[in-house]
Amino acid sequence: ASADGNPARGPIPRAPVRGMTRSMSAYDDWEPIIGLEVHAQLLTATKAFCGCRTSFGDPPNTHTCPVCLGLPGSLPVLNEAAVRMAVAAARALGCTVHETSVFARKNYFYPDLPKGYQISQFDRPLATGGALTIDVDGLVRRAGITRVHMEEDAGKNLHGIGGDSIVDLNRAGTPLIEIVGDPDLRSPAEAAEYLKRLREILMFLGVNDGNLEQGSFRCDANVSIRRRGTEAFGTRTELKNINSFRFVADAVDVEIQRQMALLESGGRVRQETRGYNSDKRTTYTLRDKEGDAGYRYFPEPDLPPLVVDRAFVEAIERATPRTPAELRTAYVAIGLTPYAASILTSHPKVAALFEATSALLPESEKQPVKLANFIQSELFRDVTTRGLEADIPLSPAQLAELLLLNSRGSISGAQLKEVYAGIRGTSTSPKAFVEEHGMFVISDTAELETLARTLIAANEKQAQSYRAGKTALLGFFVGQMMKQTGGKADPATVNQVVKRLLDAG
Ligand code: ADP
Ligand code: MG
Ligand code: ZN
Repeated sequence: ASADGNPARGPIPRAPVRGMTRSMSAYDDWEPIIGLEVHAQLLTATKAFCGCRTSFGDPPNTHTCPVCLGLPGSLPVLNEAAVRMAVAAARALGCTVHETSVFARKNYFYPDLPKGYQISQFDRPLATGGALTIDVDGLVRRAGITRVHMEEDAGKNLHGIGGDSIVDLNRAGTPLIEIVGDPDLRSPAEAAEYLKRLREILMFLGVNDGNLEQGSFRCDANVSIRRRGTEAFGTRTELKNINSFRFVADAVDVEIQRQMALLESGGRVRQETRGYNSDKRTTYTLRDKEGDAGYRYFPEPDLPPLVVDRAFVEAIERATPRTPAELRTAYVAIGLTPYAASILTSHPKVAALFEATSALLPESEKQPVKLANFIQSELFRDVTTRGLEADIPLSPAQLAELLLLNSRGSISGAQLKEVYAGIRGTSTSPKAFVEEHGMFVISDTAELETLARTLIAANEKQAQSYRAGKTALLGFFVGQMMKQTGGKADPATVNQVVKRLLDAG
């Protein structure tokens, strides 16, 4: 299973979501309105405002310094790599990146926030006005992105077995982007699709590892409902930290149903922050919704406004790889099915395998459809992923060699699978494996012709009957040929050669 909690094999969760049948229904007279807020950790080597490493799973408080501990007199210095990643993400989402944005202090008290405030962006965010294209069962819609801004992560409170709690500040100061979506989503399935598309864009950019369980990609879902045909939005609740892909649609569905029951029984929805219990399929009150005023935002006095000029943004755009959606369009254009294209773009490393293998194949032997088919039908089953990492059982060089052995007639289609099964997970070259196991097929026509002539001469009677109209005897000759070559001849070629010689006689 992959680290993102998907029990099925392969990188992207494709298991049906519990409660999906119900959530896809029309909710009678009610229309859901959903807007997602996503926090994504940027994969920089060091933290946002100090030089501490951003490595996790290390002993608590081993990556801290006066800046991320919030000690008096320390000053933050912005990490340029974080800005690059944030800009790349914003542009990939179609946002306008503002030349000047401003960091702000978001004040609140919590043990994992040693400074007593989080450095974030408030009224002047890095970027605004983008969109994602989502497709649920062929219904293609545009979901707006309100803004993308930069901020820092907090630490973590760890609750020990003995009843002790400690604060681990290794994560404090890790760069994040918050991506705020417009309230454009109209069903739980659209919310899940939006999240999936957003996650894959960030992963293909290499700026985030897409891990919901470990919290490097976190989603809050704002949910309200209104009577169909009415304009005004209802009061929303905010579902916090849905920590698994499988739960997104389910959590939203459960909350929609709760609001429906409330409103239909004459009650009112309270604006609040709620949690989701996946076992009980319920949501529950966490706290009243904090208004902006509660955070007493003000511009961060220790950091100058962030200035990203046009040249900086353009340089990042030039270095940006194609988005997964662009790759899918390109793959369909070279003849792949939409399904094959979606498998290839289900993880950046799978797409990279396809690209690298293609690049190794000679121009006249690219065979993209065959390559995609092989990845989709054989190799993909054996791929496991952890965030941006993937274990792929063949290298591009092995895969290219394997395909060429087949397309040049050295091994049959069935043998292709056999060789793959024999070398997967090893560094053995397909050619070496084929030689070692004596698997080369005889597809040399001249050699087969010699054999066929001898065979026909030795079975003159059968050859006469064949020519007299008993064409079923072709099978006899082909069978004999296969026997004499120990099954190593390519059946199609044998058929062709024998028939030609018999007909000519
Ligand atoms: P905050 O949560 O900080 O108060 P906003 O008021 O801008 O910020 O809203 C944040 C999120 O809530 C956005 O993703 C937006 O799409 C969504 N949202 C706003 N109003 C509604 C609503 N009535 N129903 C559902 N989602 C909403
Ligand atoms: Mg919010
Ligand atoms: Zn530090």
